[in-house]
Amino acid sequence: MKYRSTRGGEAAQSFTDVLLKGLASDGGLFIPEEWPSFSAEEMKMLAGAPYIDIAQAVTAPFIGNDIAPDVMKRIFAETYQGEFKHSCVAPLVQIGPNVWIMELFHGPTLAFKDYALQVLGRLFDHVLSERGERVTIVGATSGDTGSAAIEACKGCKNIDIFILHPEGRTSEVQRRQMTTIDAPNVHNIALDGNFDDCQNLVKAMFNDTKFRGDMNLSAVNSINWARIMAQIIYYFSAALSLGAPTRKVSFAVPTGNFGNVYAAYAARQMGLPIKRLIIGSNQNDILTRFFETGTMKGEEVAPSLSPSMDIQISSNFERYLCDLLGRDTASIAKLMDAFKDQGKFSIGDEYMSQARREFDAHRCDDEQTKQMMAVCYNETGYVLDPHTAVGLCAGMQVREDPSISLVALACAHPAKFPDAVQSAIGMRPDLPPHLADLYDRKEHVTSLSNDLATVQDFVRANAGAV
Ligand SMILES: *Cc1c(COP(=O)(O)O)cnc(C)c1O
Repeated sequence: MKYRSTRGGEAAQSFTDVLLKGLASDGGLFIPEEWPSFSAEEMKMLAGAPYIDIAQAVTAPFIGNDIAPDVMKRIFAETYQGEFKHSCVAPLVQIGPNVWIMELFHGPTLAFKDYALQVLGRLFDHVLSERGERVTIVGATSGDTGSAAIEACKGCKNIDIFILHPEGRTSEVQRRQMTTIDAPNVHNIALDGNFDDCQNLVKAMFNDTKFRGDMNLSAVNSINWARIMAQIIYYFSAALSLGAPTRKVSFAVPTGNFGNVYAAYAARQMGLPIKRLIIGSNQNDILTRFFETGTMKGEEVAPSLSPSMDIQISSNFERYLCDLLGRDTASIAKLMDAFKDQGKFSIGDEYMSQARREFDAHRCDDEQTKQMMAVCYNETGYVLDPHTAVGLCAGMQVREDPSISLVALACAHPAKFPDAVQSAIGMRPDLPPHLADLYDRKEHVTSLSNDLATVQDFVRANAGAV
């Protein structure tokens, strides 16, 4: 399989190139040249198979000969058997007639990002050691992504990871999930500033060409193709459990950067019989407004109960747009320029009618989110985290055929957001056993001032890259 940039400015790339590069050099995102397809017979063969076998089968066409199948097998086993706490990996829990929750919080940091990042860290390590290279990963976090990235890289021999968080502005659970990791290649920086300051310093480090080259800087952010690929697996796993390829399934996905729901779209392109793909957004509803109006227009971010979806731009949407416009990469480049210059772009009705056939989008404000959490808890005893509640709320609005299974993705464990859960249902969820002693663990963190040279000196002094 070869990969192309959504903006058309780069020659075909291999899987491993795309893995290490992340973003294409023309600013676009990598997508596979064509979608692999699975026949009904092939899907039937996978029904009932262990998660790691489904992982192997679903990802094989995307990886081709770039990485040996037995290496992938080891990576999937180390990840999903070694690091995940549930033997089903992504179990389904029934909360109503044909209504299911897919629990994606059984990884080390209790959010769905572990499902892809744990694979990504190991892929990086494998490819880097084959090439005899070493990278320094730098990233900024407001909470969730940083801990998942640190957990993913802590055992990697060829990676040093530096994560900046705004001192005193993450929740205590989030901070401790990052700072209690004791590994020589993991470096937590508590910055005297806010999240934007952290992000600006990371950008400045990437823009410093000499520093970037000296340190061999890299990123594991959400536009990396391999993250999307690893997320396709659980859509297959869930649909096969619920009767695919014979029966169709609908998915409701709480959406921020459009990575998770795009993986569902990819699964559908590969032949998985998905009826409806339902996007849930909170009050930061740029996607829902796009599906209503045909115009993508950014606005100020307003903090909500579901902070991992508080975003202005859904970066991965560009990948879907490229398919929608028949892979007309020149038009994508123009639309993205317009978005950068004028803060918006619009799509014609002929395309919008197809987009509305392929996705449904609904918003759910904080009040509705709490209501959904309360209703679900009172009727079933099941505790939803606020992100999951947004997705389920959207899913229940769209549901027209109750004989089709609806699967709502539980993207985080409720104990990650104890304040929101308490305000909705009046009780605080406990952390699962493997994190129960989180508050007793020793923290490893360095406080630094909001100054580029100071942070760069720290990275130089502590990375093993040079
Ligand atoms: C990252 C995240 C999301 C948003 O996922 P996208 O792939 O960015 O759309 C939703 N919920 C939780 C809990 C998350 O951590």
